[in-house]
Amino acid sequence: MFLAKSPEIIKKYYSRLIWDIPNTENKIYLTFDDGPTPKITEWVLDVLKKHKIKATFFCLGCNVEKYPDLFNQIKLADHSVGNHSYSHVNGWYAEDDYYLSDIEKCKEVVSSNLFRPPHGRIKKSQIAKIVEDYKIIMWDVLSGDFDLKTTPEKCLKNVINNTKSGSVIVFHDSIKAFKNLEYTLPKTIEYLLERGFVFDVIPEN
Ligand SMILES: [Zn+2]
Repeated sequence: MFLAKSPEIIKKYYSRLIWDIPNTENKIYLTFDDGPTPKITEWVLDVLKKHKIKATFFCLGCNVEKYPDLFNQIKLADHSVGNHSYSHVNGWYAEDDYYLSDIEKCKEVVSSNLFRPPHGRIKKSQIAKIVEDYKIIMWDVLSGDFDLKTTPEKCLKNVINNTKSGSVIVFHDSIKAFKNLEYTLPKTIEYLLERGFVFDVIPEN
């Protein structure tokens, strides 16, 4: 169970997190979590290249260590990268010191001041400890591509029905999500380009 659109009350409660990036240029922000992943990352890069658009990849330190060439391909294509922790730690169940050390371990291979909490779950005490060093990027639109019980058509609707100027949209660079991503990503991009949206990377500053 997940919500395609982040509720206002949650956004207000966690006001130090970044949920969207308001702007006057119709910019929106595609993000891909959990990679790099062999075959999937290459496929995503091809789709983005075909449409000449840029995106932000929130990478896991453990995957960057396993697949450094893939990570370099992301950077060479001028996409942006962010820290998604080393081993996908759920902040709600982790001691703060452990949580912070896992982020630091990712930082050794992913140089970025963008951080996305794994599972979107982070305690206020953890936020307080990293918010000076990182922009903590959440989202306002969740495709739900990771949900094995959903359909590709539903994922597409989740995105196109909720995207507005400034939206941060979540997809996954993972094997599990691919059955939904393969259908949804190209159609999402085509639909949003036709409506005048501009795809950009999440700025580090
Ligand atoms: Zn993740």
